[in-house]
Amino acid sequence: MYMNTSNWKLAQEKSKILRSEILKWVYKHMRDFPWRRTNDPYVVLVTEKLLQQTDYGHVKKVWYKFFEKFPTVNALAQAKEEEIAEILRPLGLWRQRAKQLNAIAGTLVAKFGGQIPCSYKELLSLPGVGDYIARATLVFACEIPTYLIDVNTKKIVQRFIFYPTQVTEKEVAKVLEIATPKSPRECKLFNWGMIDFSALVCTKKPKCDICPLRENCAYYSYTIIG
Ligand code: SF4
Repeated sequence: MYMNTSNWKLAQEKSKILRSEILKWVYKHMRDFPWRRTNDPYVVLVTEKLLQQTDYGHVKKVWYKFFEKFPTVNALAQAKEEEIAEILRPLGLWRQRAKQLNAIAGTLVAKFGGQIPCSYKELLSLPGVGDYIARATLVFACEIPTYLIDVNTKKIVQRFIFYPTQVTEKEVAKVLEIATPKSPRECKLFNWGMIDFSALVCTKKPKCDICPLRENCAYYSYTIIG
């Protein structure tokens, strides 16, 4: 466990720096994806499911076709698994994905009248929906601010605040809870910013030379400055 009182105070301060720098950065560098132009809960939920462990570019290839064919929860619930799978073929694991999406839509129709519930607990009750997808749906569709924890946010927090100490997911979540803005709009921007910052700057081999966080970054001071 990393967090004693003084470490926690430092982590809190750095969480606030993270928030303000990511919000500044995202205004200039945010990537444009079609699913970022909608807050339709059905589209957001299904897109998050499609994006699970999948490259954004691959999802973009099937995205328009998918929602043209299945524009509503009911259309997806009534579709045959093979029809869904056929569209998802370029993504890999298409049969498994089709089965899960069909099951999600079926449950939404049976238990929620075809609506997407804006409740963490109810979203989690859907088949194949875990913590990340539930929270992403709350943020991007329901305008309910919350942090998102995944490989991207964990990597940034780990490097920026704690490096070289390895911290637990619970500790990362505590930091993200502070860093994540409380206003729905800024929360959306911050979470998109974290995703894009991880993809463009704090990459596998981090581009610290162009990073606005480097002055305060634990990884940078430990590995680059020494
Ligand atoms: S300075 Fe480097 S390691 Fe630190 S947040 Fe920026 S890109 Fe990531």
